[in-house]
Amino acid sequence: MGSVRAVLQGAWAVPGTFKTEAVVLRSIRFGEADRVLHLYSATRGRIGAIAKGARRPRSRFGGRLEPFFRLDMVLHEGRGELATVTGASTVAGHPRLRENGPALNAAGRACDAVLRLLDAAEPNPAGYNLLCRYLALLDGEGSVDGSGSGDGAAGLSTALAFRLKLTLAAGFAPELASCARCGEGDGLVGFSGAAGGVVCGACEGGGFGLSGDAHRFMVEALGAPLASVPAAREPALRQVERAVSETLEYHAHVRLRAAA
Ligand SMILES: [Zn+2]
Repeated sequence: MGSVRAVLQGAWAVPGTFKTEAVVLRSIRFGEADRVLHLYSATRGRIGAIAKGARRPRSRFGGRLEPFFRLDMVLHEGRGELATVTGASTVAGHPRLRENGPALNAAGRACDAVLRLLDAAEPNPAGYNLLCRYLALLDGEGSVDGSGSGDGAAGLSTALAFRLKLTLAAGFAPELASCARCGEGDGLVGFSGAAGGVVCGACEGGGFGLSGDAHRFMVEALGAPLASVPAAREPALRQVERAVSETLEYHAHVRLRAAA
């Protein structure tokens, strides 16, 4: 642990006080009046932090140390594993997201996926920007293209587009251009989590059948902005969900909650 910490500090951190923007992934009551936060930060990736006195009625943090808040933070890094929050101001509080059940649910699943998949204390700008973009969409900032399946920012198609992009940001994007086993470019009819991508008919054993619609959705969703989710029907989307889940189970050893 000591050596890991030394390496991390050598690479990214100056011991002492630092500033970063971060999203609150999880906020846990701790002790009499404190909170322990799981943060995903723009400049250091995952950070664990404690906010002392955050649950006192007149805490200077107000109510902003809650999940889905995007904050400008000042943190102090001491000897412990947790940094101490010394300042926090709101960049985006996402108030509309909080009043919308499906959006709240989708945001919760997104933060949970980030917690499980991006667990390193190192920056991942693509992952951070993706999370911020999704939370903004769920808050109703900008609208999801009508060309999509019509289930909106909080729906399954956007949730899966987010998950695919997160998989890419984490370095586990599935092979979609040719058979992940033999390299064949045609007749790609299945998906194999173990192989890490689409597979041809000859290599399908061990995988599952993947429809053309599901394959197309994955390619298009990875190539398009999150707000321009391609159209696909639920059976295809469930195949996409399975493909992403199996890829992450085999290669990242991470099991995600259902996408919606
Ligand atoms: Zn093959």
